[in-house]
Amino acid sequence: MEEEALELKEQIEKERQQTLCDVLTEIPNRLAYDERLTLELANYRRKHDPFTLVVWDIDLFKKVNDNYGHAAGDQVLKLVASILNKNMRETDFIARYGGEEFVSILPSTDINGAQLITDKLRELIASSKFHFREEAVNVTVSSGFAEVKDNEEGEDLFIRADKALYKAKENGRNNCQAAI
Ligand code: GH3
Ligand code: MG
Ligand code: MG
Repeated sequence: MEEEALELKEQIEKERQQTLCDVLTEIPNRLAYDERLTLELANYRRKHDPFTLVVWDIDLFKKVNDNYGHAAGDQVLKLVASILNKNMRETDFIARYGGEEFVSILPSTDINGAQLITDKLRELIASSKFHFREEAVNVTVSSGFAEVKDNEEGEDLFIRADKALYKAKENGRNNCQAAI
């Protein structure tokens, strides 16, 4: 009986993990992001240790699909997810927000620290020399990022980061912009 209960518990935990994971890129999904953001906001309200939210978007991704096909698009999504995931601090969080957009939460990181981190990751992606069927495919990303403010809701923090992302695109892409 006890063994069965344990198995059931393990099964439930496995299913929970699956509901929090993006199938294609195998990184956390939007639901996991919502949970993590709620947690970080609660932490911030208690300790006032700043964190920064980053919204990433692959540049001209439609062209990748149009020029090389959706299979290439999927490979690019996996590549970007993997570079972001492998090159962040263990305490940082990354999720696929949807489509070709990703979100990161950088705990104990202010806007200046976030500029250094996002630029480093952006450069790694830009120099990744991705090939699809032996053809070189140019892959770059842009991001907007915002440091949490006192009494700010998660949605408002996201909106500020997303607005900065628009500026990064206006600046010619392959660019990371701090929010005001
Ligand atoms: P920008 O630099 O302004 O972001 O240009 P963009 O082409 O990346 O942006 P836009 O929003 O115009 O298009 C996003 C495209 O991403 C639309 C669609 O073709 C593609 N896309 C979104 N989600 C997926 C996905 O899951 N798989 C694939 N293969 N393509 C996707
Ligand atoms: Mg987009
Ligand atoms: Mg895009």
